[in-house]
Amino acid sequence: MAGAETVAAAALTGKRGRVMTVVDKTMRAWSVTAPGPVEAGGLRLVDRPVPAPGEDELLVRVRACGVCRADLHVTEGELPVHRPGGVPGHVVAGDGAGCAAS
Ligand SMILES: [Zn+2]
Repeated sequence: MAGAETVAAAALTGKRGRVMTVVDKTMRAWSVTAPGPVEAGGLRLVDRPVPAPGEDELLVRVRACGVCRADLHVTEGELPVHRPGGVPGHVVAGDGAGCAAS
């Protein structure tokens, strides 16, 4: 049975072993624009540029994302944000969408 690393590597290569390219220039993300109660509207759906993966990084097209209690603490301002406009959610499932050109 193939491991997750094998599946991710297979998703990155085409029939001739070429690295797939990302077509989309932007992505949607839920951003913490103003930490506080969720009902106050500080979590906004925004468009962001698709990041370019660095060396030894994999770009993943997220298909599903879990949100844990720590994410809610950050969203609601109970924990400090690491950077303004942060995007909560760090448990994702998706498809390999690209890697740095070599
Ligand atoms: Zn977590």
